[in-house]
Amino acid sequence: MPIATINPATGETLRTFAPIASEQVEAAISRSYLASRQLRDTTVEERGDWLDRVAALLEAERDDVARLVTTEMGKTYAAARAEVATCVSACRFYVTKAPAFLADEPAEAASVGAARAFVRYQPLGPVLAVMPWNFPLWQVLRFAAPALMAGNTGLLKHASNVPQTALYLADLFRRAGFPQGAFSTLLVGSDAVEAILRDPRVRAATVTGSERTGRAVAQIAGRELKKTVLELGGSDPFVVMPSADLDRAAEVATAARCRNNGQSCIAAKRFIVHTDVFEAFAERFAARMSALRVGDPMAQATDVGPLVSEGSRAEIASQVRDAVDQGATLRCGGELPAGEGWYYPPTVIADLTPRMRMWAEEVFGPVAGLYRVSSYGEAIEVANGTAFGLGANAWTRDPAEQERFVIDLEAGNVFVNGMTTSFPELPFGGVKNSGYGRELAAVGMREFCNTKTVWVG
Ligand code: NDP
Repeated sequence: MPIATINPATGETLRTFAPIASEQVEAAISRSYLASRQLRDTTVEERGDWLDRVAALLEAERDDVARLVTTEMGKTYAAARAEVATCVSACRFYVTKAPAFLADEPAEAASVGAARAFVRYQPLGPVLAVMPWNFPLWQVLRFAAPALMAGNTGLLKHASNVPQTALYLADLFRRAGFPQGAFSTLLVGSDAVEAILRDPRVRAATVTGSERTGRAVAQIAGRELKKTVLELGGSDPFVVMPSADLDRAAEVATAARCRNNGQSCIAAKRFIVHTDVFEAFAERFAARMSALRVGDPMAQATDVGPLVSEGSRAEIASQVRDAVDQGATLRCGGELPAGEGWYYPPTVIADLTPRMRMWAEEVFGPVAGLYRVSSYGEAIEVANGTAFGLGANAWTRDPAEQERFVIDLEAGNVFVNGMTTSFPELPFGGVKNSGYGRELAAVGMREFCNTKTVWVG
C-alpha cells in the first residue's frame, strides 16, 4: 500500500510519503530503547504530568485534528471530534488511576515464609504498535496512554492511509514533554514489521487490525518469544428477543451498525431476531437505516460518510451481490451511488443462508444482515456460529434470559440492552479469532508490565 493521504470523499491523493529508510528505523528503535531506560526511572506522577499535557493539547487542537482524521479516512467530522474527546478522557483516566494500578500489591508474607512479599508492576520496554485507520487516534491512544504511564515506550506502525495522523501523534507526545524517543511514528510499510519485531530491543507488540495481520505478527512474535496483544476483527451478533424494547433496539441497532460509516470492529453486524418480533423489528430497523443521510463527511447534517477506499467499497458490494444472487432479500439499500467518493448506502438484508459469504465473513461497511430464529437456543447457535468473538449484544427485559446470555455468548464483551463500546474503565478485547489479551482498565495497563514477584526474607 502506498503511504498516502487519499480523501475517501473525493478519491483525490492529497499527499504521499516515501517510507523511511532502514537506518532511520534503526535510529528510532535506538532512541526508543534509550527512552525506555530513562522512563523506567521517572515517577508515575512525572509521566502523569506529560500525559495530562497530551490531553490538554488534544483538547485545544480538537477541531484541526478532527478535520485531518476526516480527510484521511472519511468518518464524519462529528465522529472525529467525538473520537478526540474519547482520547482526552482516556488520558485523564490513566493520569488519575495509574498510581493505584501500578502500586505494589502486598501478599501474605508469613504464608510464603518471607518478611515481606509483594507484586511490583514494571515496564517491559519498547512496544511495537501496529494500528489500523478506522479509529486512527483512539486505537493508538488506548494503547499508548496506559503503556507510557507504565513506563514503556511506543513505536507506532500506523496504517498507510493515515500518515499525517500518525505524524501528528508522534509530535503530540513530544510537545507534551515525553522524553525524545518515548513515542515514535515509523512511516513504513507492513513489510518492515518483521525486522522491527525481531530486534531484541523491541520487547512486545500490540496489533489492532485484521485476523490476517494478527496471525502474521503473532507468528513472528512467537518465534521471538515476545508478548503480544491482538485486537482483531469481529462479526458481532445483536440478538433481539420477544421481551425487548423494539423501538430502542432498532435505534441502537442503527447506530451500532453505522458508527464510523460501518467500519468498526465492534459494530453490530449480524442481527439475530426472534421470529415473534422479526417483522416488527425489521420494519423499524430498515426505516431508520434508510433515513440516514449519506454524504460529505464534513457536513453537519451527514450521518454516514464514505468508506475508506475504493477496494473496501468493492469488497462490500461483492459480499452483498453474492447474498442477493443466492436468494437474500434487500430490505433497504444495496445500490451503489453514482458520482465521486466511495459511498455505500446503509443496507439491510434478510433471508441469509450459510452458503452466502456474509453468513461467516466480517462486513466492514454499513450493511446489516438479518437472521430469523425461533428459540433462545437457536439464537445462541447463530450468535456463536462464526470464528470471531469480539463483542455481542443481547436485547431482552427478562432477567433470567439476560443472565443466560452473559454465560452463553462467546465474546470478550457482552452488552445487554446497549451498544458495545470501549470505555477506559472496562477491559476490552476478544476471544476466538478476534484475538487475545485485553486493553484498557487495569488489566490492559498490566499487559505490558513485568508482573514481578518480590520475596524478601
Ligand atoms: P489490516 O490488518 O490490513 O491493517 C491494520 C494494520 O496492520 C495496518 O497498519 C497495516 O499496515 C498493518 N499490516 C497489514 N498487513 C500486515 C502484515 N502482514 N504484517 C504486519 N502488519 C500488517 O486491517 P484493516 O486496515 O483492514 O482494518 C480493519 C480490520 O481491523 C477489521 O478486520 C477490523 O475488525 C479490525 N479492527 C479491530 C479492532 C479491535 O479493537 N479488535 C478495532 C478496529 C479494527 P498497512 O496499512 O501498511 O497495510
